[in-house]
Amino acid sequence: MLNPFSLAFLAALLAMFILRLWLAQRQISHVIAHRATVPASFADRIELAAHQKAADYTVRRTRFGRIDLAVEVALLLALTLGGGLQVLHDFWSQRLDGLPYGVALIFSVLAISAIIDLPRALYRQFVIEEEFAFNRMTPRLFLADLLKQAALGLAIGTPVLLAVLWLMERMGSLWWLYVWLFWCVFNLLILFLYPTWIAPLFNKFVALDDAPLKARVEALLSRCGFSSSGLFVMDGSKRSSHGNAYFTGFGKSKRIVFFDTLLGRLQPLEVEAVLAHELGHFKHRHVIKRIAMLFALSLGFLALLGQLIDASWFFNGLGVETQNTALGLLLFFLAAPVFTFLLTPLLSLLSRRDEFEADRYAADKASASDLVAALVKLYEDNAATLTPDPLHSLFYDSHPPAALRIARLQQG
Ligand SMILES: [Zn+2]
Repeated sequence: MLNPFSLAFLAALLAMFILRLWLAQRQISHVIAHRATVPASFADRIELAAHQKAADYTVRRTRFGRIDLAVEVALLLALTLGGGLQVLHDFWSQRLDGLPYGVALIFSVLAISAIIDLPRALYRQFVIEEEFAFNRMTPRLFLADLLKQAALGLAIGTPVLLAVLWLMERMGSLWWLYVWLFWCVFNLLILFLYPTWIAPLFNKFVALDDAPLKARVEALLSRCGFSSSGLFVMDGSKRSSHGNAYFTGFGKSKRIVFFDTLLGRLQPLEVEAVLAHELGHFKHRHVIKRIAMLFALSLGFLALLGQLIDASWFFNGLGVETQNTALGLLLFFLAAPVFTFLLTPLLSLLSRRDEFEADRYAADKASASDLVAALVKLYEDNAATLTPDPLHSLFYDSHPPAALRIARLQQG
């Protein structure tokens, strides 16, 4: 019972599948073609061995990403046109009804997809990351993380799902507006609670006690007009040797978090430059703009779902005979990424623009050459390729390619 919408869905899915495979293939060929020599602009900063490690790591992960893609597409087809959702519906509707039915149905889809993802997550962590000496995780920690995430997901997800399904069923034809308001409030709440309540479940945060570095950071903060907020060091080395720094929170709950792996690797002036870049994101309101954009997009999507939920062609076209709220919600979130995938290059472009802006701010408030030195070390430590395929990068990369970013910083 394929209807025209089934065909549109299949065509979009096929187009996405081919496009992603083609981009992956381009990336692999480009990185291999540039593996033999360090790009000229990095020749005095990066050893050939490090360049080749980055190339091999990128190729390894991109190749494995093609398996991710194939599994993702197969699961989506199995759930929709393959009849998987219909089977789950038949199973749960004989046992439960109303809101409990909806929650059970949605959680069973999430559980199935988590179980299918698990072997690949294990392979990525304990084979690929291990091979390149990035893995610091033990199987025991992996299991503990998994259980904590599942418990947290159930504890937060159950009331949220109950509330959304309840609003969808009780609020008449404008339910999507109520769900949107609820969703915005919920997201803001998580943003506030994350640094102080959720992140500490997974990592330890201790106050930065390196006095000279602390003085330097505080001088930078006052130069940039930030009120003194908490400075913390996070035990990122517990899981991985990749380094990072971030800045979270709003208003009085603002805090700056350094990964211990970052502090171990960078000189104080370089740490200052990296932090100045993060402050640049904040000063230019990138986070708030991003949140506003996501809220606007989700309003559009919910309004669209408000129309689709009454359309039998939408349900039948995706392989489901029954029409109800929980199934509509599931089908929408399964099918939407196939169509919104084409927004990826636009979102990547906006993100890269923000990165350049934050870099300019860092060059202004700290030093461009320190930021360049820090970036080179971070690229090397994370084995990020210096020679990405330009089209792959244009499509996916949230950060500009290293060469471009460094060239801009050096122009001053
Ligand atoms: Zn940034």
